[in-house]
Amino acid sequence: MNPKRIALVTGGTGGIGTAICIALAEQGRKVIAGYYPPEKEQAQAWQRSHRERGYDFEIVACDVADFESSQQMLHDVENTIGPVDILVNCAGITRDRTLQRMTPEQWDSVLRTNLDSAFNVTRQVVESMSTKGFGRIVNISSVNGQKGQFGQANYSAAKAGLHGFTKAVAQELAAKGVTVNSVSPGYVKTDMTDAIPEDIRDAIIQQVPMGRMATPEEVAYVVCFLTDDRNTYMTGANLPVNGGMYMT
Ligand code: NDP
Repeated sequence: MNPKRIALVTGGTGGIGTAICIALAEQGRKVIAGYYPPEKEQAQAWQRSHRERGYDFEIVACDVADFESSQQMLHDVENTIGPVDILVNCAGITRDRTLQRMTPEQWDSVLRTNLDSAFNVTRQVVESMSTKGFGRIVNISSVNGQKGQFGQANYSAAKAGLHGFTKAVAQELAAKGVTVNSVSPGYVKTDMTDAIPEDIRDAIIQQVPMGRMATPEEVAYVVCFLTDDRNTYMTGANLPVNGGMYMT
């Protein structure tokens, strides 16, 4: 039986984030979903609709690409709810272009949102988790951070960076009861992949041995496994959830 731990999911109102929030709540966690500040109304609507379905989610605004915004988010959460026991770094964006056409803005925004964010947010919880002697940190990376992907030099670099970040921080926190792992989904059916042109999406699916995309729930299940109180000896690991697309 898992105790009522406090879980913070950045990008919690997104496709995969929502499934993670639901799965963690069903695992008995108190769940807080982080949302991008300009999307306040959508986040409030998301909260209302889930409360109607019995999920007592809290929401908190934060631009994870910004260190001070991340600091403020954790300050607010600690003061109103309590110290975070479980952190899932799930917020992310794509700005796909071949390198030849990629602008510095497209490079920077993806690196800041997908990689700097892990530093910005994780940095805020390290001390309280270490002091408490318990913590679970999961970074949502991507199969494309493992194998690279045409048109995604920015995204692949950021997601590959998350693997290095995960392993380094796992070593720093291993003796403190805090585990740090990553999950690398393949293609998951969300708004992010709905934005891929249909012909390219079909070609991608043909490369997946399971012949389909993942559901967000299939990723959420693995996050719950990694953050379970009984999962005490697994740290610095990367769990691929990619339907056999890239086997490591
Ligand atoms: P979504 O676009 O549905 O969710 C991403 C979430 O991140 C959104 O809620 C978005 O908010 C939020 N976000 C974006 N920028 C910021 C920011 N600066 N500060 C705070 N929040 C922000 O995508 P998915 O659910 O598909 O993706 C979730 C994670 O999974 C991402 O890290 C993605 O890279 C990764 N992933 C996804 C795969 C897929 O196939 N879908 C495959 C592999 C990995 P808003 O919508 O308001 O902008």
